[in-house]
Parts: sequence; C-alpha cells; structure tokens
Amino acid sequence: MTIEYLDERLRDVKPAGVTLDADGVLHRGRNALPGAADLLRGLDARGIPWQIVTNNSRQTAQRAAAHFRAIGLPVGDANVLTAADAMAAFIARDHAGTHGRSGQPLVYPVGDRDQRDCLIAGGCRLTDDEDRAEYVAVGVNRQLTFQRLFHACNAIRRGAQFVVANMDATVPTETGAIPGAGALAAAIRVATGRDPFNIGKPAPELMIQALRKMGCVADLSIHVGDRIDSDVPAARQANMWAVLVTTGDFDRASGVAATGDARPHLIAPDLPTLNGWLLR
Ligand SMILES: [Mg+2]
Repeated sequence: MTIEYLDERLRDVKPAGVTLDADGVLHRGRNALPGAADLLRGLDARGIPWQIVTNNSRQTAQRAAAHFRAIGLPVGDANVLTAADAMAAFIARDHAGTHGRSGQPLVYPVGDRDQRDCLIAGGCRLTDDEDRAEYVAVGVNRQLTFQRLFHACNAIRRGAQFVVANMDATVPTETGAIPGAGALAAAIRVATGRDPFNIGKPAPELMIQALRKMGCVADLSIHVGDRIDSDVPAARQANMWAVLVTTGDFDRASGVAATGDARPHLIAPDLPTLNGWLLR
C-alpha cells in the first residue's frame, strides 16, 4: 500500500504546517493507532507546527490534550484546537473586529457547563437575558430545557447572532449516540428560520483558526482526516491540501470516487506511510 496522488501538484509541496483529525486518524476510541505517536514526534523533530482540530463542542484544549496523553500520544495543550475554544475565539473576534464593538460579547449559552467555561475562558460574558444577548452559542447539553431553547429562539429573532460549535447530528457516548450540537441547532433553525454560523468541520472556521495559530499559509499546509464529508471539505474550503487516511470511516474507493469539495488531494493507507511521505 502506497501514497496515491489525486492531485499531482501535491508532489512538489513540502508541508509547512499540519492539522490532524483525531478519531479514525490518531486513535480509535481509547486505542492510539499505529504510527500516531511517531508521526507527531517526527513533526516536532523537524520543527513543523501541527494542530489536532476536533469538533468537540464542550472540551477545552487542556482537557482534550489530557485525554490524548492518557492513551499514549505526545500531545501538548498548545497542540489542540477544539470547536468549543474556536467558537469562543470566533465570537470575541467577530464582536470586536467585524462589529467594532468594545467590551466583552454578551452570549446566551445553550451548551452545558463545560462549554460555558470555554466561552468565559475565550473572553465572552454570559447572560441569561434574551433581550441583551448579542450571540447565542450552541453546543451539546444533556440538561437542556425547553425554556432555554425558547429563550435562545427569542434572542435570535430579536437579532442575536446564532453560532454553533458543530453541526454533528449525534455524539457517541458509552450509553449510545446522544443528540449532537447540530441536532439542537436544527431545532432552533426550524423555530426561527435562521441558519447558524457553523464553527466545526465541514465548515472552514476551525481550520482557518488552526492556520492562524500555527502561523502557516493555507496552500503550504495539509489537513489529515478520515472523513470525506467533514475533514476533506473543511480543508478544501480553507484552501488547504486534503489528505484522506483510510484507517477510519472511509476507504480508498470512496476517496477516489469523491467529487467536488469531498475529493481528497492525497490518499494514504495509514500513518506510517504518510510519515514516509512527509519525510521524503
Ligand atoms: Mg475522524
């Protein structure tokens, strides 16, 4: 099994920065995948910046990194960008930059306590007042009440900006798949007729923030993922090179058959083979 180029231009690219999906790429559940630790150490040894980009809507980078270390991966807190952190950063930046407003953005949280902590850590101020909220931030919340959904919808109808950490329909847990941030956002979308701004993959915002954090330009950076319906379009829309590794949810044949935003530029059968390509 070897590297397969679906775009010949990538033959001449020496990646200056690397972003990586986690599940299906670096690990499967609680098991690190073969070659994952070597690949990350190799990037560090060559001074190539890297970021693990995850759609997780409630974990800080610190908590996610601790999980990766617990399964044997050499991941520092600074190597992770979660959708929860990226959502807080997006809101803070949008508030000050796009709208030129001073002070902290006032956010009505629909996510759980962990997500609220991420928002506060990212420079947002939380409010339970639908009339004052400038943003409504949606993430997974197992304690979500009808009242909170109702007030979130009112805030959005009144003009608050509707932001969601990811549009994932479900989140796998030990007790089965629970409704994801995307499912909660869908309820609000139907009730308000407004579309959310999505931070997570397949949207490009998470990747754009990772590139900014690494100080890398998109067209010299690769994203390594296992999904042609999430990783590949996120990378392509951020103008990065999309690498599909077939250790996860999609095989080589589906990568080769994919078209448009779902088509990877490169297919690798596993991480040791990808590492060899990076070292070429
Ligand atoms: Mg994955």
